[in-house]
Amino acid sequence: MDENNYRVLFSEAAIQERVRELGAQITRDYAGKTPMLIGLLKGSFLLIADLARAIKLPCEIEFIQSSTYGNATQRQRSVGEVVLPPVEGKDVIIVEDIIDTGLSLAELRARLLDQRPASLRIAAMLQKRGRQETPISADYLGFDCPDEFVVGYGMDYAQRFRNLPFIGVPDHVI
Ligand code: IMP
Ligand code: MG
Repeated sequence: MDENNYRVLFSEAAIQERVRELGAQITRDYAGKTPMLIGLLKGSFLLIADLARAIKLPCEIEFIQSSTYGNATQRQRSVGEVVLPPVEGKDVIIVEDIIDTGLSLAELRARLLDQRPASLRIAAMLQKRGRQETPISADYLGFDCPDEFVVGYGMDYAQRFRNLPFIGVPDHVI
């Protein structure tokens, strides 16, 4: 589990600094409001924890569980049945680990918009440029990500590696 077994793309320090910047930006953008952060489980669990603490405003925290990957590295199925939090009239920020095709996020965004939130934006740690199959992008983005399968800072391969404090490509296992 140490950095020697990975090609590190984003170090723990770089991630922490960027998340603090995103939190400061959200704090400015939502001054006087109470944003509702909705984390998409499981991949967003570290980002939402760090981001929420970097936002110096009252926040509501909700989660949506929808798994589109199973144990594979390719997308398998659509979002399916999910329990949505009560978003009507709320200033919603969806918190996602990584936007790849964007299809799962687009589907969830459409379902949330049906419930008439006051506003809806997207925060994501990473976005793989050029991979999107639908017009969607993060309003608050950590970093652009090369088109490689990455793990760490919430992101898994077969449910492992989520607890790495950095983001990288493992040398072996994949
Ligand atoms: P999309 O619908 O293709 O955008 O799928 C996005 C989801 O797939 C993310 O929320 C991740 O859970 C997962 N995912 C996409 N790329 C990676 C990756 O490189 N590593 C780990 N998980 C990924
Ligand atoms: Mg995810």
